[in-house]
Amino acid sequence: MARDTSPQCKQCRREAEKLFLKGERCLTDKCAVERRAYPPGEHGRGRIKQSEYLLQLREKQKARRYYQVLEKQFHHYYEVASRKQGITGENLLVLLEMRLDNVVYRLGFGASRRQARQLVRHSHFMVNGKKVDIPSYQMRPDDVVSVRANSKAVETVRAATDLTSSVAPWLLVDHDNLTGKILRAPTRDEIDTPVQEQLIVELYSK
Ligand code: SF4
Repeated sequence: MARDTSPQCKQCRREAEKLFLKGERCLTDKCAVERRAYPPGEHGRGRIKQSEYLLQLREKQKARRYYQVLEKQFHHYYEVASRKQGITGENLLVLLEMRLDNVVYRLGFGASRRQARQLVRHSHFMVNGKKVDIPSYQMRPDDVVSVRANSKAVETVRAATDLTSSVAPWLLVDHDNLTGKILRAPTRDEIDTPVQEQLIVELYSK
């Protein structure tokens, strides 16, 4: 499975925003965005000419990096979102939020989306009692996520739950039994992703 292997802190510095890609480290003063608050590279501190296109592009890249999705798959999400009823940008964010790896992260079972994705890929989770190892698996209301019995990742998952004191209102979690449930799809104001989705829609609809 293809994935973005570029340095994560550089991704945050490029977007000039903390994307919380490294779990616990992101909460410390070792965070690269806080230590070097300028874009990476030789010309990082140079003046960047702003344009409407650049704004839209950066917003799309930020969303892609936030959810750790490659361009082709991200564009596919946009196409699905644009065919659905409602506001395309919001549909796009809901599709991304309902990915299994994101749900695992939001439930606190992974310290970062990348760790959550790896745990899913290594078959440590079940959905409705069945093993699912596809990070992009689209969750639905009433689906139940649980850690597989005898999983060797139980300690890792428990350590991750220590970093999460509460979960989004569209989710229900039981950290003692390592299970979680999707109550419903999230509304836009329940998604804290720091992107202006309208700019992404404008970019793709050109
Ligand atoms: Fe981003 Fe986390 Fe690295 Fe900070 S520590 S730059 S939030 S990945």
